[in-house]
Amino acid sequence: MLSGAVERVTGEPGAGATVRVVSAEGEILGHGDYSPHSALRVRLHAFGKEAPAPDWLPRRIERAAERRRRDPMLAGTDAVRLVNAEGDGLPGLVADRYGDVVVVRLATAGMAARREAIAEALREATGAAAGFERADAAAARREGMACRQGGLWGEAPTAPVEIREGGRRYAVDVVEGQKTGFYLDQRDARDRVEREARGRRVLDCFAYTGGFAVAAARGGAARVTAVESSRRALALARQNLERNGAEEAELVEADAFELLRAGDERFDLIVVDPPPLARRRADEARAARAYKDLILHALRRASDDALVLAFRCSHAVGAERFRQVAFAASLDAGRPVQVLASFGLPSDHPVSLDHPEGDYFGGLLLRA
Ligand code: SAH
Repeated sequence: MLSGAVERVTGEPGAGATVRVVSAEGEILGHGDYSPHSALRVRLHAFGKEAPAPDWLPRRIERAAERRRRDPMLAGTDAVRLVNAEGDGLPGLVADRYGDVVVVRLATAGMAARREAIAEALREATGAAAGFERADAAAARREGMACRQGGLWGEAPTAPVEIREGGRRYAVDVVEGQKTGFYLDQRDARDRVEREARGRRVLDCFAYTGGFAVAAARGGAARVTAVESSRRALALARQNLERNGAEEAELVEADAFELLRAGDERFDLIVVDPPPLARRRADEARAARAYKDLILHALRRASDDALVLAFRCSHAVGAERFRQVAFAASLDAGRPVQVLASFGLPSDHPVSLDHPEGDYFGGLLLRA
């Protein structure tokens, strides 16, 4: 709940303390973690009158892990999100498993205060050899807490961790990479690219460590070009392509906005997966324009019958708005465009109905 909704605080709860939320009428609404420095003042983890059971944390962690173990959509990969914060009833906690390493992000004072218990529960629930905590500088600033990174149990990884996803193999830099190292949320879309790529000239824009480029190469693409501005990400992308027998793919260190706009070569499958262009509602209009430009330029570079796979990564631009943006781009490009599929978060990134903000991600597979 937001700070503006809090009329009064009784007692002197510290950062991360469990507090009871009471309505103006005196009704107990729930229990949650107190964040005195954040605009999100209380993260509720139990709704209603009942206080949460003393072992609610390990139980929810175990349940989340068990749900992944039994999920048929996750068969064939050893890289999954184990805990998806509010989506698993654990606001402030994200845990991703990469092979034998669990990578954890603690985004609230409440979860940071439970660091040891969380590590213990994750270790129990997974049997993984190592746990590693990634610093979250933005969260630390928001919460007014120290920013910490380092081992939680076992040996801290010193080299990229190998994962497999269907037939694809990737090395994941869990220590320095973006997010916890890899874009797990793109798994379903990578599968689709692998199935669609045969014989196509593929352009992977904002390629990071080559998630889509590898899928395209494995799917039998005629050519693969990946564009990314981070040299560090490209170095790992090179390794990932080699690891999957795709040495001939071309990697370009460039501004993908520029490259799309300026070139004239045509492609048969273009992936456009930019970084978040809007973080807040107030940025929506600007972000929508940027998404439109990207899709427009992709359509201009698309051959006849080409596929364009475009993503949004912010809850500020929702699915409906994103479709309108794609429509506007198709009008400007003067090409009728079909929607072949839409992508949302995969099943290891569940969104709780009481937390719609968790739905930050989506994509459209377009045919021009
Ligand atoms: N498609 C990737 C994830 C992309 S995240 C995957 O599935 O793994 C967005 C990426 O865009 C980041 O790697 C970031 O380094 C890169 N990036 C940001 N601005 C860029 C720009 N102007 N040009 C090219 N890449 C950019």
